[in-house]
Amino acid sequence: MTIPTEPIGSVPRPEYLLRGSEQLAAGTIDQAAYDSLADRAVRETVERFEATGSPVVTDGEQRKPSFATYPLQGVEALSPDGAVIPFADGHTRTLPVITRGPFRYGAFAAPYLEATRALTSSPVKQAVIAPSALSLLYPAAGIDGYPRERFLADLADEAERDIRQCLDAGAASVQLDFTEGRLSLKLDPSGGLLRDFVALNNTVLDRFTAEERARIGVHTCPGGDQDSAHSLDVDYADLLPDLFALRAGAFYLQLAGEADPERVLALVAGHTTAEQRVFVGVTDPIDPRVETPEEVRDRVLLAARHIPVERLGTCDDCGFSPFADDTSTSRDIAFAKVEARVRGTAMAAEELGR
Ligand SMILES: [Zn+2]
Repeated sequence: MTIPTEPIGSVPRPEYLLRGSEQLAAGTIDQAAYDSLADRAVRETVERFEATGSPVVTDGEQRKPSFATYPLQGVEALSPDGAVIPFADGHTRTLPVITRGPFRYGAFAAPYLEATRALTSSPVKQAVIAPSALSLLYPAAGIDGYPRERFLADLADEAERDIRQCLDAGAASVQLDFTEGRLSLKLDPSGGLLRDFVALNNTVLDRFTAEERARIGVHTCPGGDQDSAHSLDVDYADLLPDLFALRAGAFYLQLAGEADPERVLALVAGHTTAEQRVFVGVTDPIDPRVETPEEVRDRVLLAARHIPVERLGTCDDCGFSPFADDTSTSRDIAFAKVEARVRGTAMAAEELGR
């Protein structure tokens, strides 16, 4: 027996791919030339994942412009001045807003998964964006002839399609990125927005069978971009009861970067049910220092004192580069952390007699 361990998703893009995407935007290389750079980046990423011994791999999101905006590639009815997400270090990211309906994804995640599965015999995980994040694309002033309710219904259909295509294409797991969960408590401390997000995501999750939901997980974190977070100051205690109301089979929780992980583990133990697997973060992508396998082992052993080991897994706290242009972490550091996670999780499993 082993303790499952999975990456969250993104890995910093190599320099040649970032340069290629600038050249594609400037029109100095064509799509085919860019695609061959992206193919190379995915191939090298999968090889490096396999070299760490990682039992589950991803494509490192080499082709995604960001974890949140990949479905907007090719969507034309967008205006750039949407929701602004402020990070603790003062930088911001701005989402677009849609300008007309009906809302349809311009790109889905399954082609990324299929391309990766063709390169490896290892199980492949696919991250998708949670519908709650994309609900922020609807403008506050509304759209004539396309009410918010219609938008949310279209969005739920598209999000279901995104997840279902990945399950059908053989994803080992499909992870909904729900980084806006914790952020929502900053925007609305009453919890109303969080409960709206959970309800929207559950309308999509309810369309899947229990067997399918066992392969669907939800990732929560306080955001991670340019080595900064957007909602680390929001208390986990305010998030967890609503988070675990999501009808997903697995939860991927940022934990290593918390000031008091044991307090969070005790809260998690009080809110999860027997059907929910909990992957705890044991490496922190925001911290440039690489954890040792022994530190990871000790984090897993601590978690196992609170969460039954048969429901426990490990992950990184977050992706290493959720936005394509984030180069704050090197690929070497990212994979050194992945290797520490894999080795430390195996050491803990051995110590726990699994
Ligand atoms: Zn994250």
